[in-house]
Amino acid sequence: MSQSYRGSCLCGAIRFEADSFRPRNGHCHCSMCRKFHGAAYATFVEIARDQFRWICGSELLRAYVADNGTTRRFCSNCGSSLTFAAANTDDSVVEIALACFDDTVPVTPDAHIFLAYGADWARPQDNLPKYAEGREGEAFAAWPPEDDTRKPR
Ligand SMILES: [Zn+2]
Ligand SMILES: [Zn+2]
Repeated sequence: MSQSYRGSCLCGAIRFEADSFRPRNGHCHCSMCRKFHGAAYATFVEIARDQFRWICGSELLRAYVADNGTTRRFCSNCGSSLTFAAANTDDSVVEIALACFDDTVPVTPDAHIFLAYGADWARPQDNLPKYAEGREGEAFAAWPPEDDTRKPR
């Protein structure tokens, strides 16, 4: 029997289930993810679309589409942050807030991304690779990098 992993929003009206996870799940420090979560960063885990199901409450999902075309969906009853989708994404992957899982999930976050937009009070101290923007850029071992020439914000 295969295992599935369940999660829900804060009020419990929206429930979902995943069968497996893709390896990519970074902590995103961008200002939009920070504000969407009300936290230092957001951690979204990628799930193949056919491995993910809304169990109930999906009619309560509302979407916020940002100026850059990214879409974030949340529970209209309790405000829980639930999904992220890039502007150019196809429908083959769901990105969902790792924090909303109720079950223990076999997922280990693998990077910090968009740290150039991160909060100064929440600089990561762990050993994960650290990117100023997306993963296509250079990975730093520490943030801010020692030879950082960016202007202080
Ligand atoms: Zn809710
Ligand atoms: Zn982000």
